[in-house]
Amino acid sequence: MTLWAALTRRYLPAGLLAMLLTACHEKPPLSAEYFVFGTLLEVSVAGVDRRTAKQAYAALQQAFQQMHRDWHAWEPGALMDVNQAFARGQRIQTQSGIIALIRQSQDIERRTAGRFNPAIGGLIGLWGFHTSEFPVIGPPPRSADIEALLKRKPSTLDIEINDGQVFSVNSSVQLDFGGIAKGYAVDLARQILLDHGINDAIINAGGDLRAFGQNGQRPWRIAIRNPLGGVLGSLEISGDEAVFTSGNYERYRQDDKQQRYPHIIDPRTGYPASGVLAVTIIADEGALADAAATALVVAGLTEWPEVAAPLGIDKVLLTDEKGRVFATPAMLERVELTDPGSAVAIQIP
Ligand code: AMP
Ligand code: MG
Repeated sequence: MTLWAALTRRYLPAGLLAMLLTACHEKPPLSAEYFVFGTLLEVSVAGVDRRTAKQAYAALQQAFQQMHRDWHAWEPGALMDVNQAFARGQRIQTQSGIIALIRQSQDIERRTAGRFNPAIGGLIGLWGFHTSEFPVIGPPPRSADIEALLKRKPSTLDIEINDGQVFSVNSSVQLDFGGIAKGYAVDLARQILLDHGINDAIINAGGDLRAFGQNGQRPWRIAIRNPLGGVLGSLEISGDEAVFTSGNYERYRQDDKQQRYPHIIDPRTGYPASGVLAVTIIADEGALADAAATALVVAGLTEWPEVAAPLGIDKVLLTDEKGRVFATPAMLERVELTDPGSAVAIQIP
């Protein structure tokens, strides 16, 4: 997906890229593809006629196009307008999706004691991660520049929301919803499908997904990628669930000594989180699953169970930098591991 993003950026003229962003081509039997947030997103539905599916797909196309435009962290759009207003100390009217993302982020920042913090857009930009082309090549930022940003303590809790208007009491707050937007997008997409009378669907953004109902007579079945290659395991969706993975292995900066600096930043140190290669979470909602996966990468090998607890997360599968696999008992009940017995069971306190 990253390669696709890089290719489209490098070789296609802007107009054609815009068309691709919104392109929705039908794939038999009842699925559609979209290109959004730098990822190919596939929606498949079951149990409805072609006409209903097509109408829903057209509504999704419009919605995804708007989300992509409005929530982009480094291209002109509604979120950039908000960030500019914050930097200038001004109040600004914004759209309901951004307000919903701020509210959910405030809640999760609070519950993770700041490990999940989408107000650190300044730091993420400083590390050069406001790009679709990975790896980013070059040395890390100067520690003095990181320190200067850390000192200003940007937090989503600095944001006040009033009648559709937002204001930050801290001008260093720069929103970057890269850790939660995809999750919220699949939640909104699910609602659009339900509104069209579709009760069986899977919305899959490169392995990050929300699924509900059934695939005909069977449950939706999905695979979980092994960050070291191949497939770690597979599972069946039960009812209505979101499955999200965060990893520190795909998107990173690399310097001339081959030292890697992954894209998930610990907001307390200003440096990339380490120790965890990938975390997969099953939860009831996409936004929570997405943000929690990012937060658990930041929490690291010793703290992740105590960070999962206040989020109400009980299904976690984690691979550490040594390739060891850990899983909660509730996750072990659900996942069929490719290498059975390879995961160490860890209780959430
Ligand atoms: P994900 O792939 O969902 O883990 O999201 C990673 C993205 O979230 C990064 O590329 C950044 O845009 C953003 N991000 C990085 N670190 C954090 C953090 N500590 N809290 C919230 N968002 C973050
Ligand atoms: Mg995430």
